[in-house]
Amino acid sequence: MATQSIKPMVAGNWKMNGTTANLKEPRLLAGMLRGVKLKCDVMVCPPATLIRRVKAVMKGSMIKAGGQDCHAAVSGAHTGDISADMLKDAGATAVIVGHSERRTNHKETDAMVAAKAQAAHKAGINAIICIGETLDERKGGKTLEVLTSQIKASVPAGCTAANTVIAYEPVWAIGTGLTPTVAEIAEAHAHIRKELSAVMAEEGAKTRILYGGSVKPTNAVELMGIANVNGALVGGASLKAVDFIGIIKAYI
Ligand code: PEP
Repeated sequence: MATQSIKPMVAGNWKMNGTTANLKEPRLLAGMLRGVKLKCDVMVCPPATLIRRVKAVMKGSMIKAGGQDCHAAVSGAHTGDISADMLKDAGATAVIVGHSERRTNHKETDAMVAAKAQAAHKAGINAIICIGETLDERKGGKTLEVLTSQIKASVPAGCTAANTVIAYEPVWAIGTGLTPTVAEIAEAHAHIRKELSAVMAEEGAKTRILYGGSVKPTNAVELMGIANVNGALVGGASLKAVDFIGIIKAYI
């Protein structure tokens, strides 16, 4: 399948930012997108405490809400954690798993990420599985090798193009203002596409591969135009509706 036929997605990851005072942003976003014919899906992933309220202020729009992480278990003695079922109950249709901040700050392994993705699927929500190399790995010429091993170990059985999105996020590009070159992103995404076909068979060719790492309104058109880039996972620039819409405009 030609990747042009894949419907792109622009997802915003608010990280640990946002209280009720910030609900004006998704309200504004929904207002700005009213009546606009979008060629992509749009998702906002606020802190879990806000999912239900973000959904409420975006009511009537096509924008979806997602979670930022989930536990692999359905329920139990896991103080402070949240399950995929709970996210679904709050209104999420997807959850980000394996973000590099989780992999680094919480020592999450590929196996843990795969278990979380399976938990999401079991709950009936989609998994946005993040992968990406560190700066040392890129400098050491190991980028493609790292991506291969992350895909093999973080993308579990049962992943389909309908229930899974892959986000390629070079760790060194997240929140730094740095981005790989167009050629580097094209190489990484082509490699991910090939490896996805190895682990997901024909579903791999249809699966969305988002690019994430310092996507801004000023570079979105260029980045979203790269082969095998099927949208963006956006951190900082998703917090303000005007910036987020500036990125979404790449698909209007
Ligand atoms: C992210 O955290 O997933 C991300 C891509 O952040 P930023 O856009 O701020 O680099």
